[in-house]
Amino acid sequence: MIKGFKGRLTTPDDTGYEDQRHLWNEAVRTRPALIARCADADDVALAIGHAVHHGLPLTVRAGGHNFAGRSLADGGLVVDVRDLTSISVAPENRVARLGAGLRWGQVDPVLQKHGLATTGGSVSKVGVAGFSLGTGLGWLGRGHGLAGDNLLGATIVTADGAVRDVGPEAEPDLYWALRGAGTGLGVVTELRMRLFPLVRPITGTLVHRLTDADAVLWQAVEATASAPSHLNWAAVLTSAPPIPGLPDDVQGRPVLLLPVFSTGPDGEDDPHVRALRRIGRPLLDTIAPTDFCTFQTSTDEAAPDGMCWDVRSEWLTGLDGPAADHAVAAIEDASSPLSEFLFRPLGGAISAPDAPDTPFSYRHAAFMTEIIANWSSGDGAAERTWSEKGLAGLMHLSAGGPDVNHLGLNESATRTSTAYSPATLDRLTTIKQTHDPHETFQTPPWINPSKTSPTEQ
Ligand SMILES: Cc1cc2nc3c(=O)[nH]c(=O)nc-3n(C[C@H](O)[C@H](O)[C@H](O)COP(=O)(O)OP(=O)(O)OC[C@H]3O[C@@H](n4cnc5c(N)ncnc54)[C@H](O)[C@@H]3O)c2cc1C
Repeated sequence: MIKGFKGRLTTPDDTGYEDQRHLWNEAVRTRPALIARCADADDVALAIGHAVHHGLPLTVRAGGHNFAGRSLADGGLVVDVRDLTSISVAPENRVARLGAGLRWGQVDPVLQKHGLATTGGSVSKVGVAGFSLGTGLGWLGRGHGLAGDNLLGATIVTADGAVRDVGPEAEPDLYWALRGAGTGLGVVTELRMRLFPLVRPITGTLVHRLTDADAVLWQAVEATASAPSHLNWAAVLTSAPPIPGLPDDVQGRPVLLLPVFSTGPDGEDDPHVRALRRIGRPLLDTIAPTDFCTFQTSTDEAAPDGMCWDVRSEWLTGLDGPAADHAVAAIEDASSPLSEFLFRPLGGAISAPDAPDTPFSYRHAAFMTEIIANWSSGDGAAERTWSEKGLAGLMHLSAGGPDVNHLGLNESATRTSTAYSPATLDRLTTIKQTHDPHETFQTPPWINPSKTSPTEQ
């Protein structure tokens, strides 16, 4: 069907189409006309040429974990890079070359063998490419920056079929865009990431009763307000996962989880870790020295395959009493034990004055929130309304827009257009017009290429 194509081509008439099409989020029902699982960059160029020739909407798929299913288009051709899984590590230069089809669970263990790591996802099946071409907020983020901050270069096949190596010196505009707004511009086949020495972390979770959540959350915010960048933590309101040692009366009931991650020099004696442990009366405290890769897979079970999901997210200027009250009340109304409110602190390297210039527009934010709704059958209308309402109760703290990596189903244009600042969107629009003038690749909803770019005014 595509002359010279070495990988696998699948249409809806082929056996195995459903398997090939399948995404993590079952709520996404999009059905592409052709799935092109590419063996290399030449296959990618051939697939792009085929889409152009036949006028097919063109998308790119890596780990398939985008909540909104942006890797597929109805009736389109999907360039599937899942088989591009090469890894090479140059420990002396602290650089890894990562094939765009890798997932974090395939990368972290290889880097760890070299005593190295980079900012990756907190669930191991998430794709390296989609994660890093968007925000890329991980446990090492406060210490070492977002994934895009650590993207040193990439290989990308653009709409004209050209294979380009981009970096600070080569195609700097394209390189800039890939560091946080890299979808819809081409097919990235390889990412070159900066690595850091891996320090054995202190990690674990503090579990608190929901009745104490308000006070504990507030004290945790205060206790970490001036914490060094090696300390990271999050607040998760969700149903208690099946952790041994939890009292029977909270099993499966909403609780507050405080996952903690520290790579500080004082290990378990880190004063900020100790301060978090001293708050309230935790039902359980699992904090201990941990293998990094074990921690990186520790929440995989909370995001199983084969279920339906939606998410709403927002960058927040801070947390306050009304926000905490709202989240605590809302989690009691969640219909699924896998639904959650999540608050992740920023700061550290993410908001440092010398942070690199990338499309990420919310370095001034103090927190990112995700309201994740889960359901297993039905249309999910009630669950989606729940996450919308969940977000509405936090919007008084909005720093300006949502996280591009956590845009959900059917988000409004008003929301998608605030995923980046207006100046960033203008620059992205110009880059889209330059490198994909005919919109060969499906245009992300935050870009408006028909708008006159600043350079044309
Ligand atoms: C369980 C779970 C946990 C998550 N945890 C985090 C987290 O800790 N931090 C965080 O920042 N995000 C997180 N995310 C969000 C996740 O990073 C984004 O949804 C991301 O888009 C997923 O990337 P992917 O490669 O798996 O998905 P895909 O759906 O395959 O791709 C996502 C987007 O990237 C584009 N894309 C993929 N590959 C390429 C490529 N090679 N070239 C060009 N464009 C490409 C796709 O077209 C699509 O628009 C999580 C998501 C889930 C479901």
